[in-house]
Amino acid sequence: MTALDKTDFLSEKTRQFLAERHHPMLIGGRWVDAASGQKLEVLNPADEALIATVPAGSPADVDAAVKAARSAFETGPWPRFKPAERERLLLRLADLVERDGQTLAEIESIDNGKSAAIAHAVDVSVAASFLRYMAGWATKIEGSTMDVSVPFMPQAEFVAYTRKEPVGVVAAIVAWNFPLLLAAWKLGPALATGCTVVLKPAEQTPLSALYLGRLIEEAGYPAGVVNIVTGDGPGAGAPLTGHPGVNKITFTGSTEVGKLIGKAAMDNMARVTLELGGKSPVIVLEDCDPAMAAAGAANAIYFNQGQVCCAGSRLYAHKKIFDRVVADLAAAANALKIGHGLDAATQIGPLVSREQMDRVCGYIDIGRAQGAEVVAGGGRAGDVGYFVRPTVLTQVEQKMRVVQEEIFGPVVVAMPYDDLDQVAAWANDTPYGLGASCVNPPGCSVR
Ligand code: ADP
Repeated sequence: MTALDKTDFLSEKTRQFLAERHHPMLIGGRWVDAASGQKLEVLNPADEALIATVPAGSPADVDAAVKAARSAFETGPWPRFKPAERERLLLRLADLVERDGQTLAEIESIDNGKSAAIAHAVDVSVAASFLRYMAGWATKIEGSTMDVSVPFMPQAEFVAYTRKEPVGVVAAIVAWNFPLLLAAWKLGPALATGCTVVLKPAEQTPLSALYLGRLIEEAGYPAGVVNIVTGDGPGAGAPLTGHPGVNKITFTGSTEVGKLIGKAAMDNMARVTLELGGKSPVIVLEDCDPAMAAAGAANAIYFNQGQVCCAGSRLYAHKKIFDRVVADLAAAANALKIGHGLDAATQIGPLVSREQMDRVCGYIDIGRAQGAEVVAGGGRAGDVGYFVRPTVLTQVEQKMRVVQEEIFGPVVVAMPYDDLDQVAAWANDTPYGLGASCVNPPGCSVR
């Protein structure tokens, strides 16, 4: 494992940002602390060092942010912005994200643990291109006209049409696995359509959202159009989803919290979009190339340290090639270079937090206790930082917790199967949806 004790090579902007040490939140165009004065500590998961503090938002701060968003939605310049002006602002924001891409990637790496190189290539560039994509929608939102068949007043003629209008104040609550990208996925549609937003980043990873707040200001968004409230779930998330001034909730995170948010939305009659957990199957067919399948399966589970909602966390390989696939997968897992996300050679960074590391290691222990065999990895790497070795578990059965529950870490369970009907039933034997993949033989026309 590599450890970096120097950060001299960080971009100048990253160093300046980190040197500030405390980062206030953005409410109504002002950078403010929590009304209570409370702060949250932000740690670097690679070395457990304190990187920064942010305000610990509470119901009073959430209320101020929702009111600022409401006022920006109803008065001020934003409601008068023409679609083409909303488009131009989103394009400008995308350019700024790209301009400061290196800084955003470095911040993401230090805050979340992920590789800065991958954060730049994936998180930042997908965020920028997604904002551009959504910019295009601003000018293409249309209603419809229709002939109506109203039966009474036979002589009367009717003109009927629909208009699509912004729903109002959007509460956007995001998880810690792709902090910048998830924020962009929430902001893009809301801003393209003319809504205003209260964004709450995850308490583990608030920094890229706060940096993005500066770019939002620089792009020229009027005060209050985007508000960013930092804080934890009970302190800031729950009061935000329960606030009667919110018209729409969009959430990415755990299924457990998603259920609470669904109930809160129902109580307020707010619209809601939830993107939750997964336990996605990867099915390897009998006549496919085992080496290719193993390489794909490794990428499916170990990308972003397995902290991906659609990670391929269940591997089903046909019994004829199961041993070879598993051997290649275990070799791939053992070969991955574990290290600090700022090291360009790193392939597996730390998990986001001690809590997550303990949870993932706890699942590996549960697997062992229920009879699973650890053929690669099997626990924590090192004793500083939240590193978990890429792990493969075999000798597992459908009913075991490691097969049924989302682990959200670099742990895959592998099972052999006999026939397609059997594996299809196993693949579907999960409370989750989200993703599935199938590895076909080379040259197969079905993809
Ligand atoms: P994970 O379990 O992966 O850490 P969570 O679903 O707990 O993910 O967190 C995702 C986001 O939801 C974070 O921003 C977190 O602060 C927020 N959150 C957690 N609990 C609640 C809650 N009760 N109401 C609203 N938001 C919450």
